[in-house]
Amino acid sequence: MMRAKADKAGRDLRFDYVPIDSYEKRALCECGGELQSCGGRLRTNPALYLHRCKGCDKRYQLDTIYPRVIHRERKI
Ligand SMILES: [Zn+2]
Repeated sequence: MMRAKADKAGRDLRFDYVPIDSYEKRALCECGGELQSCGGRLRTNPALYLHRCKGCDKRYQLDTIYPRVIHRERKI
């Protein structure tokens, strides 16, 4: 669905409504357990985030926090 609307300069804008699917992206340990963020962050550049395996308690340093929600355009 698209709607026309003028911005402050009087230009017409169009908006596109695209269906998406949402996912929870989970990082898995080599044992198959899910990694959970511990809330800690290393002050490296780029930052690293501390995670712990729920299954075997192994520690990981990852470049982003898991689990995380991602959105992808729905494939039709
Ligand atoms: Zn594990």
